[in-house]
Amino acid sequence: MAMPNILFVGGDEMVISRPVERVVIREVDKFLSRHGEICACEQCRKDIIALALQNLPPRYSTTKKGEVWINVELQSPQLKMDVLKAILRAADRVTQYPRHDA
Ligand SMILES: [Zn+2]
Repeated sequence: MAMPNILFVGGDEMVISRPVERVVIREVDKFLSRHGEICACEQCRKDIIALALQNLPPRYSTTKKGEVWINVELQSPQLKMDVLKAILRAADRVTQYPRHDA
């Protein structure tokens, strides 16, 4: 089961597994296309993605040691809800404190 599904970061940090990351990116893009009132510039989009990933419950994380987080697809409905909640929080925050110029 040692699939290359883990996004490695330095040290023993908890990281988000790649399938989850892909879902987050896809959902953020859908979310932005539905919400014209939210700035979708590259800076804000990236900030929303990064924050949403941070907002996800720890069960979507895995460790560098390779405790692979599995069965993303099996938990898909729960995952989708958690991802949407995380995106809402992230978008809220980025809208209040945008880091883009002007
Ligand atoms: Zn922006």
